[in-house]
Amino acid sequence: MLTANYQQLKDILSERIPSKRIITNPLQLLAYGTDASFYRLIPKIVVQVHTEEEAIEVIRQTARLNIPVTYRAAGTSLSGQAISDSVLMVATHEWRKYTILDDDAAKIKLQPGITGARANIYLQPFGRKIGPDPASINAAMIGGIAANNASGMCCGTAQNSYKTIADIRIVLYDGTVLDTSDEQSKKDFVAKHPEIIAGIEELRDKIKADSILEERIRHKFKIKNTTGYSINALVDYEDPFDIIKHLMIGSEGTLAFISDLTYHTVIDEKYKACALMIFETIELACEAVPLLRESPVSAVELLDRDSIRSVDNDPDAPDYFRTMPETACVLLVEIQANEKSEMDAKEAAIRKAVESIPTIQPYRFTSDPKEYSFNWKARKGLLSSVGGLRKTGTSCIIEDVAFPVPRLAEACIAIKQLFKKYEYHDAVLFGHALEGNLHLTFSQDFSTPREVKRYADMMDELADIVVNKFDGSLKAEHGTGRNMAPYVEKEWGEAAYKIMVRIKDIFDPNKLINPGVIINENPKIHLENLKPLPGVDEIVDKCMECGFCEPNCVAEGLTLSPRQRIVIAREISRLKVAGEDPARLKQMLHDAKYYSDETCATDGLCGLVCPVKIDTGKFVKEIRHQEASDTAKKVAGYIGSHMAGTTSMARGGLNFVHFVHSILGDTLMGSIASTMRTLSFKTIPKWNKDMPKGARKIKDTVVNEGQPDKVVYFPSCINRSMGKSKGYEKDDVELTEKTKELLQRAGFTIIYPEGLNDLCCGMAFSSKGLKEEGSRKSKELEAALLKASEDGKYPVLFDMSPCFYTFHEAYENKKLKIYDPIEFMLDFVMPKLQVKHPREVVTVFPVCSVKKIGMETKLMELAKLCSKEVAFVQSNCCGFAGDRGFTYPELNKHGQRHLNEQIPSSCKDGYSTSRTCEIGMSEYSDINFKSIFYLIDEVTK
Ligand SMILES: Cc1cc2nc3c(=O)[nH]c(=O)nc-3n(C[C@H](O)[C@H](O)[C@H](O)COP(=O)(O)OP(=O)(O)OC[C@H]3O[C@@H](n4cnc5c(N)ncnc54)[C@H](O)[C@@H]3O)c2cc1C
Ligand code: SF4
Ligand code: SF4
Repeated sequence: MLTANYQQLKDILSERIPSKRIITNPLQLLAYGTDASFYRLIPKIVVQVHTEEEAIEVIRQTARLNIPVTYRAAGTSLSGQAISDSVLMVATHEWRKYTILDDDAAKIKLQPGITGARANIYLQPFGRKIGPDPASINAAMIGGIAANNASGMCCGTAQNSYKTIADIRIVLYDGTVLDTSDEQSKKDFVAKHPEIIAGIEELRDKIKADSILEERIRHKFKIKNTTGYSINALVDYEDPFDIIKHLMIGSEGTLAFISDLTYHTVIDEKYKACALMIFETIELACEAVPLLRESPVSAVELLDRDSIRSVDNDPDAPDYFRTMPETACVLLVEIQANEKSEMDAKEAAIRKAVESIPTIQPYRFTSDPKEYSFNWKARKGLLSSVGGLRKTGTSCIIEDVAFPVPRLAEACIAIKQLFKKYEYHDAVLFGHALEGNLHLTFSQDFSTPREVKRYADMMDELADIVVNKFDGSLKAEHGTGRNMAPYVEKEWGEAAYKIMVRIKDIFDPNKLINPGVIINENPKIHLENLKPLPGVDEIVDKCMECGFCEPNCVAEGLTLSPRQRIVIAREISRLKVAGEDPARLKQMLHDAKYYSDETCATDGLCGLVCPVKIDTGKFVKEIRHQEASDTAKKVAGYIGSHMAGTTSMARGGLNFVHFVHSILGDTLMGSIASTMRTLSFKTIPKWNKDMPKGARKIKDTVVNEGQPDKVVYFPSCINRSMGKSKGYEKDDVELTEKTKELLQRAGFTIIYPEGLNDLCCGMAFSSKGLKEEGSRKSKELEAALLKASEDGKYPVLFDMSPCFYTFHEAYENKKLKIYDPIEFMLDFVMPKLQVKHPREVVTVFPVCSVKKIGMETKLMELAKLCSKEVAFVQSNCCGFAGDRGFTYPELNKHGQRHLNEQIPSSCKDGYSTSRTCEIGMSEYSDINFKSIFYLIDEVTK
């Protein structure tokens, strides 16, 4: 129940913003109450804004009603700066516009909802990238990257947002817009807000008049520092607009909303190599760091002995990982260059620079893909090692401090002693050595006062070591948030802190923009609002709520992301165990059914990018399994045992619907079908104009006998039921026929498994949680394929990638040689055919299973053999999710919302390897999608 002023806000906003984007449902509010930190605040209202006008409206109305507002991008922040117990304004989904500036892409203008990785995809053709390179770049968005001044392994302090920002467009606390790239905007701003300009100039001049303070500021920014505001802007720049734009960097959404930002881009070097230098002690490694800093390295990462131990079980780890001395320390050194000769020169210079410091064994710079990626995997995998090994219920903490480089060794030893004293036995220490930046990763239980005190005492002592002993930074990269807010004055001293407080006053006089972040009077704020992480199920218990999975999830933004599904499951589990608030629990369970379960595509793409490899889809299937009624299990068993009858009924039904459609036409059929669906309370599947006819029953057993090459062809039950759709060519035949023609032309004898009409990979059952029947069907298929292939003598072709993937995960007898449609065509069929008339342009869509099996490059290769230009759709999952697109079409619609814009205007046809996905893609685009087998057949005929 909203209080009067929040209700008033909701009512006013509803006049300008569609109400489905003004969220007040408790389940979704809780879901948005999480970022990657170990804090939780539950917002009262979440508003998903799509335009600057909407953002201005939210900012104006919250200001008018005296309501605090927090801005949110991807929510991967670690210090508690992206959460709110008031209004959370999410600017992600429609904030995707970008403009490449200058012919050589020397600059790029980006909206805040673009991930750093996507910005780099736009720049790739120009051999350039954005400067900031946080490890979270695949998920983190420009708004958050800039507002946190995030940085990573290569960018250091030279290429972070502060150093590479060209211009910014911001919305201030009263809705005023300032665009620093527009002279008129600056003039208007001076006229409207002379007090802001005067305030900035006063601070600038005050620092200039205080040489000790000025020197302190310059000194502290020689190493990475994100504690407090970027007050170096006041000493580095004279012009108030230059100062304002640099102050926005690292302001953690506490000064203004960023509508867009222009970066100077940096060169993305073509050649890369790295070496692991192993030193006897941390001291020796740290002695090498200043020497490396003076030489042409691109990155130097320090890994302590415990870090190495946490990855030494990896099958790719070299033997010396297990045998190096307990005192050892590793530096991972990266070189990058645009020319091979430059690489050689750089390597020689680096060797010379550190020749005086002995390593345990000779080191070698490698660009061999396997070795190179292992070396970096070892570094990047450290978080998952600690996160994945921690006890259920504990948080994975990543502290982020920086020390003056000459004192790095001393600092490492002091930190290690600190961890020993407070018994953080799983702690590992690694980081960006060139910047003196160390990440301290450990697990922490917050469920008892004793554990909270242990953390509090350790943090006080850490602050003491960093500040008093080394004059370092308490937050090097991750931002101050609520986590370091109590220590900002301690680190900076009174004079600098007062400057920061004044900056907040100037830009946010009413203290409504992300209050409590960076500047906070409460000395214990870092110990409050701690997030509970109760156990739920071992599939998801290791979740760190980092948010890395969100960009891969088709349901994100429609209902819940994988992270949010886990948050909800944790809350349900907590409520059940605590026995508190049964009404809330009941409501949660009710809402979770749709938000968490029914709208999960269970495609598992989330697991591909999760640092601890959590497949939330698997978890959802487990819930479906637990909740499946006995009746559903019995029905599944019946259908599974009568597959031939079921596919035959499906064929008949599809033919009937197709017949009616041909008489009524798209519009009338559409409205009748939609009315029937509504009247049936959505139990009748959604009809669309691309619904196919029924297929003809396959009666073949062996075709084209006597050829030297034989293949077992397993047509999936979907293709055995579904024939041509309306958009197919008149003389097209259904896919099973097309495959037969193609294989015959390529000179194969085709063997159909015995009892084909009863066979199925099991996916239709297991995706609904009916895993017993799913498993029985896949076993049955395995037996039939073994027999047909004469115990694995002949390859087996699947005609749908999802069925291939399901079977690939389930089958046990590895004598079977099974092939995805893409791989089989590329390796077996294309070499036997000749492309006679390639297409000008086609679009291809890699379905989820193609991504999971790592077949995207092969799909591109195959398509490129058939067409001069190939548009590769970048959306993650199409949202059709087996047959879910028929019953939850909103998921499919959401998944396809950016499909059309990725299809070139001259393109007439799209291709894929999954029939049901193709139906959904055809519905939500202006072209028709079908199996890539049709394309191959056409261009080789
Ligand atoms: C596993 C892991 C590894 C990480 N590694 C790194 C690393 O290597 N280096 C690093 O620096 N960080 C790292 N981070 C922290 C985090 O990912 C980065 O700081 C990232 O840039 C945050 O971006 P975001 O899109 O998630 O922003 P959010 O978390 O959504 O927001 C970040 C801040 O920006 C503000 N904000 C968001 N959008 C706007 C806007 N439009 N206008 C104004 N303010 C806005 C928010 O209010 C908040 O204060 C890591 C995090 C995780 C979980
Ligand atoms: S599921 Fe994995 S990627 Fe997603 S929030 Fe949890 S740990 Fe991060
Ligand atoms: S399985 Fe797919 S839809 Fe479900 S949470 Fe994972 S990415 Fe999202």
